[in-house]
Amino acid sequence: MKDFESTNHQNRSVTDDGVYSVAINQFELAAERLGIDPGTRKVLSHSKRELIVHFPVKMDSGDVEIFTGFRIQHNLARGPGKGGIRYHPNLTLNHTRALAMWMTWKCAVTGIPYGGAKGGVICDPKQLSLTELERLTRRYASEISIVIGPGKDIPAPDVNTDAQIMSWIMDTFSMHLGYTVTGVVTGKPLEICGTLGRVDATGRGVMIVTREAAAKAGIPLQGAKIAVQGFGNVGYFAAQLLEQQGCTIIGVADSEGGVYKEKGIDTEGLKAHQNNYGKLTGYKDADTISPSDILEVPCDILIPAAIEGQIDSTNASKVQARLVVEGANGPTDQAADDILAERGITVIPDILANAGGVIVSYFEWVQDNQAYFWDIDEINAKMEAVMIKSFNNVSQVSEKRSVSMRDAAMLVAVERVSETMKRRGLYP
Ligand code: NAD
Repeated sequence: MKDFESTNHQNRSVTDDGVYSVAINQFELAAERLGIDPGTRKVLSHSKRELIVHFPVKMDSGDVEIFTGFRIQHNLARGPGKGGIRYHPNLTLNHTRALAMWMTWKCAVTGIPYGGAKGGVICDPKQLSLTELERLTRRYASEISIVIGPGKDIPAPDVNTDAQIMSWIMDTFSMHLGYTVTGVVTGKPLEICGTLGRVDATGRGVMIVTREAAAKAGIPLQGAKIAVQGFGNVGYFAAQLLEQQGCTIIGVADSEGGVYKEKGIDTEGLKAHQNNYGKLTGYKDADTISPSDILEVPCDILIPAAIEGQIDSTNASKVQARLVVEGANGPTDQAADDILAERGITVIPDILANAGGVIVSYFEWVQDNQAYFWDIDEINAKMEAVMIKSFNNVSQVSEKRSVSMRDAAMLVAVERVSETMKRRGLYP
């Protein structure tokens, strides 16, 4: 299991309503600018389908507990729903709604033929044994099986869920139907038709957009100073791949604290230290830094790759980077966006910056559907091509309309979805 993350951990957090209103406000702004018709605006400011399930799980003690889970499909105009499954004690309906909406935009801005969805179960996986986790997952999969499927909605891992959980969902779904359906989830292990390149895909995508954005901003990648918040799947691979590009990783922090060293931190060594001691602090001769102070260190590029709600009106004026690349979903709120823009700091938004994962998930689904698997070079090259094309597209809109990269990404995404809806027409 991945490290359990608490959204209330440490110094910064946002409420579920806060996250949802950020998502709604971003959409409204784009819809207003695009002059989207009122009917389409109403449709897109609601989820299409929201399934809430309360289901029993037999615990190891023999007691039965009731858990609550969600699967929300924000919009399916462009294709089946796509989005992760999160296990978290603070998960709420509104939080899941926001995450589902962001998936619609993320798939649209990268041009992959999916709608947006998200799901999860309110639970603390750290308190569950492996057998309880399997029973919970299988029952949840069974409950949501009425809305998921390779042509309907394709879940994937998110916070506190992983390839093993995807295997159990795939197996449960297949048992219901009586035959193997690999394309019902992505992020599966290779042994059951997962894809090569998924594990580092999001971090690789972050590296690619960072490289493109740095070139555009005139920041030479060689020696560029980078600070990373979060050293999980996204943060670790982003840092490692950027280091390979010649960048200097000057600081890294996770939820417990982090390390800062102006001359640079070797990410492989830091990973080994984290594996050995379960923490980043204490690594070699680096200074200790708090999870929030990492956001304020002098650097060229800041990569928030932990959780949402990290940069807001209280600390945006203290960010000392020239470029912020959002590895995490929703790390910057609207007020912070405005402050950063005023200070001339470019933000590469989440729906573009962290889309590498969903792009390679899409490749996994394509490979599953055609039962033919590609090699790693083909996967990485295809992903890079989609990332660069999406980046250039958003950059052009940003320049043409004199708006931020976030606003431009939203304009591209919302326009694509609303055009699709217009073409399809309103049923009946
Ligand atoms: P993860 O669980 O592997 O790692 C999260 C990291 O963030 C851990 O190092 C954790 O300690 C750290 N963290 C948590 N709270 C923190 C805090 N308050 N301050 C500093 N560090 C903190 O998760 P991940 O898969 O790397 O995902 C990170 C973010 O990226 C999430 O927002 C997720 O939704 C988003 N994302 C992930 C993927 C993916 O493919 N994994 C794809 C797109 C977006």
